Amino acid sequence: MIRNGLVESIGNTPLIRLKRASEETGCEILGKAEFLNPGQSVKDRAALGIIRDAVARGELRPGGVIVEGTAGNTGIGLALVAAPLGFRTVIVIPDTQSQEKKDMLKLAGATLVEVPAVGYANPNNYVKVSGRLAEALAKTEPNGAIWANQFDNVANRQAHIDTTGPEIWEQTGGKLDGFICAVGTGGTLAGIAIALKERNPKIQIGLADPPGAALYSYYTTGELKAEGSSITEGIGQGRITANLEGAPIDTAFLIPDEESVPVVFDLLQHEGLCLGGSSGVNVAGAVRLAKEMGPGHTIVTILCDYGTRYQSKLFNPEFLRSKHLPVPEWLERTAEVPN
Ligand code: PMP
Repeated sequence: MIRNGLVESIGNTPLIRLKRASEETGCEILGKAEFLNPGQSVKDRAALGIIRDAVARGELRPGGVIVEGTAGNTGIGLALVAAPLGFRTVIVIPDTQSQEKKDMLKLAGATLVEVPAVGYANPNNYVKVSGRLAEALAKTEPNGAIWANQFDNVANRQAHIDTTGPEIWEQTGGKLDGFICAVGTGGTLAGIAIALKERNPKIQIGLADPPGAALYSYYTTGELKAEGSSITEGIGQGRITANLEGAPIDTAFLIPDEESVPVVFDLLQHEGLCLGGSSGVNVAGAVRLAKEMGPGHTIVTILCDYGTRYQSKLFNPEFLRSKHLPVPEWLERTAEVPN
């Protein structure tokens, strides 16, 4: 089958059986291989959905500018989709994000605006800066400018209601008992949850939340409260975004780095899957959900993005030591220079 260009190459990713997680739990743990999207992350789907929606509503015109605040992956998706469709992208990114993502954004043609990483309550937060920048550019750009606004633009979760959810349903033949993933904007979790519950309301939906985010607390006690921190990028939310509103979430797990980082290393060393930190949170979350549900169940999660994006951090022994995380012996050896 020939796909017509980049836009048609987004989605329809494989579902991969995760051997060790399945054996450990007696369940079938399946990972949706979103790192195989052209921009190497799940966010290609949201980027395409947001752009298509803005074009359909007449807000984004040929030659227009797309402005977004992003931890990186949405920006990469937006920039790659924008190129063949004739749009420009301006990306506001917190300076704490990996150099590899910033380099990729520049390669993809985005104009990069780096800002200090401050919380959402601060007016200089990257999301708020991107909103103001879009407003200003809308007045000066000859073909106009839009704010993608991935957190509160529900075209994001709609992309998962329309594509990722139905794909998972079809790939499993409807034989699945649970779905779980982490939240950045909430588009992936809410969209897939809505699509799956529509088809079978008995499917258990789980949230895997890193420390430093407030959603584990929210879905277990009703109070938005954050404690601790995590090295994972692209996830960790402190509020109920528009994409998360009304999401049918049944259960939640708090997954610390000490639990998720070894999962990332195991997946690479034993299964050849080179993934980012949020995928570790997701697979660790799937194992927890499987243990809660008991053997014999089928549980799906998301393999969000490709690991080479984090070589300078997650796969860097020095970085791991600085965060007091254990460094596996084989990773230590990859840092040695052969003579
Ligand atoms: N993992 C990574 C690496 C991401 O970049 C993102 C998006 N920020 C997510 C997970 C979470 O996806 P969503 O925004 O749909 O909640």
